[in-house]
Amino acid sequence: ILEIDRLRKSYGDVEVLHDVSVSIDPGDFLVLLGPSGCGKSTLLNCIAGLEAVTDGEIRIDGACVNAVAPKDRDIAMVFQSYALYPNMTVGENVTFGMKVRGESKAAQAEKLAEVARILQIEPLVDRKPAALSGGQRQRVAIGRALVRDPKLFLFDEPLSNLDARLRGEMRAEIRALHERVSASIVYVTHDQIEAMTLATKIVVLNGGLVQQVGTPDEIYRNPANTFVAGFMGAPP
Ligand code: ATP
Ligand code: MG
Repeated sequence: ILEIDRLRKSYGDVEVLHDVSVSIDPGDFLVLLGPSGCGKSTLLNCIAGLEAVTDGEIRIDGACVNAVAPKDRDIAMVFQSYALYPNMTVGENVTFGMKVRGESKAAQAEKLAEVARILQIEPLVDRKPAALSGGQRQRVAIGRALVRDPKLFLFDEPLSNLDARLRGEMRAEIRALHERVSASIVYVTHDQIEAMTLATKIVVLNGGLVQQVGTPDEIYRNPANTFVAGFMGAPP
C-alpha cells in the first residue's frame, strides 16, 4: 500500500534523509525507530504529503502522494505536537473529520462517546485544548485519528507524554485498533520496547539513513551493525 523509493529530503543545504527506501504491505504495523533528530518526523511528514520531497518518490496505492489533493489522501495523522484546533472543544476536535464528511450528529455523538471511553477523556469533552494537560491533549489527538476510517494511520510518538500506566494502556488500545481495522499503520517512536511490542516490521533509522529493516525478532536477534545492536540493547 505504501512505497518509499530512494527518498531524499533536505532543509536548505542540509540533507536530513539520505536515500530511504521502505515499503509496507496491507495490514502492516511499521515502526520507525531511532534516536532524536534522526529524521523520523521528517519522514512521516513526507509520507503525509506535508513536506515536499527533495528527490525520490512516495506512492500510496501506486499514486504519488504529492499528486493527490490533501482531502483525498485517506490518511489520518497524529502529530507529535498534537495540532488541536484551539477554539473548538475536545469533542468538536475529535469529531471534526466526521463533520467535514457530512456524517449525522447522532453518528458523531455515538463515535465520540466510544472514543472518549477508550481514551479516558469523557470528563473533558466540553473543554478547550488550552485547559488540558499535555497527556490529555495527546489523547485527544489520538481520538481525532480514531474516528476517521483511513487506509493508513500515521502516528508520531503518540504516547511520549503519557505516564507509564497510561502508556501501557494506550499501547494495548493501539494494538487492538490495529487488529480491529484493516488499516496499515506507520508509527514513529524512539522507544525500543514500544517498537518490539507493537511492530510487525521495524525500520531502524540513524542520521537519516536506514540501518536495518526487519521483524522485531530479526532485529533483536540479528542486529545488522553495532548501532542497531547498541540501540536495541542486544549484544553485538
Ligand atoms: P525527535 O525524536 O526528537 O522528534 P526526529 O527523528 O523526529 O526527532 P526530525 O524532526 O525529523 O527528527 O529532524 C531531523 C533533522 O532535521 C534534525 O536535525 C532537525 O534539526 C532537522 N529539521 C527538522 N525540521 C527542520 C526544518 N523545518 N528546517 C530545518 N531543519 C529541520
Ligand atoms: Mg520527531
